[in-house]
Amino acid sequence: MSVVVLVEHTEGNIKKKSLEAIQYAAGIAQKTGTTVSAVVLGTLADNVMQDLGQYGAQKVLHVPDARLNQLHARAYTNALITAAQKEDSKIIIALHDINGRAVAPRLSAKLKAGLVAGALSYPDLTNGFAIKKQVFSGKAFAYVNITSDVKVITLMLNTFPLSKTEGSASIQKLDVNFSDKDFGIRVKETNKITGDIQLADAQLVVSGGRGMKGPENWGLIEGLAKELGAATACSRPVADAHWRPHHEHVGQTGGTVRPDLYIAVGISGAIQHLAGVSGSKTIVVINKDPEAPFFKAANYGVVGDALEILPRLTQAVEKF
Ligand code: FAD
Repeated sequence: MSVVVLVEHTEGNIKKKSLEAIQYAAGIAQKTGTTVSAVVLGTLADNVMQDLGQYGAQKVLHVPDARLNQLHARAYTNALITAAQKEDSKIIIALHDINGRAVAPRLSAKLKAGLVAGALSYPDLTNGFAIKKQVFSGKAFAYVNITSDVKVITLMLNTFPLSKTEGSASIQKLDVNFSDKDFGIRVKETNKITGDIQLADAQLVVSGGRGMKGPENWGLIEGLAKELGAATACSRPVADAHWRPHHEHVGQTGGTVRPDLYIAVGISGAIQHLAGVSGSKTIVVINKDPEAPFFKAANYGVVGDALEILPRLTQAVEKF
């Protein structure tokens, strides 16, 4: 019996957030007296997969079908069910990101499994199988008890610090019976995400809202981000207005970030925005309105015009 984890990779490397999912699975496996089987879909080098042992995976089940290098929710679901059946697994874990959110509900429906979406804790086994998660757009926490035999969990990103140990995972090829329907979606075009730092993995984020006035001022956000080695993000209206690409929008309907530092510039702090950023360890808000709601969630605040403050802040960081 083992805990099955969906592993994501890009350009030949495992995504950092997937290492966290493996480590989380290893914690659950330890509690439940099982092992961890990481499921890798698509093409990836053996040595990269073996290294998953350093984060707690004993085994890698590899489906080396190049079509799986991009998300096909039906095919991913099919592969995870095959893996879970092979491993007699009662617990399946994915990340609470675009892929996990596409696959987990399908798994849950097909396996009649309870689902906790956006787990923030290990299951409390003294209390059934209770897992902490956010509710009401992050206004409150709930402990959700999964009572079904099979359990599906999506893990909120950046919830646990990563720690590496010695270890090497064994690799087994997994045969999955795919049908044409599993690959019903055709990707016509893929665009490389802008910036060097992946937003979901970033430890530092500089984010802009409508207070930035227009896309012509985004150089100020990018300048500060570059000096800090941070990723850039934005509020939803900014993406809706095409000032920034949609993958940068964070919040209830966008991505979730939990960096060490989140700098919010010209963002009001609506509850839907906070839902995606409130897990940040330190929040700095720059806003010209001292009554902006974001200040209530901030550790540090600067009241003033972002267009004046940002160049000075960037200069100050440069001097460091
Ligand atoms: P605004 O609300 O217009 O705020 C701009 C801020 O900039 C103000 O606080 C203002 O004081 C400040 N400002 C103006 N000029 C300056 C200046 N020169 N210097 C400094 N500060 C300045 N929003 C999200 O972000 N993410 C989501 O996922 C999301 N999902 C949603 C889902 C639903 C169902 C709904 C209904 C809404 C959702 N929204 C989401 C929208 C959300 O409610 C807010 O409307 C949005 O977050 C506001 O974006 P903003 O703060 O950039 O703009």
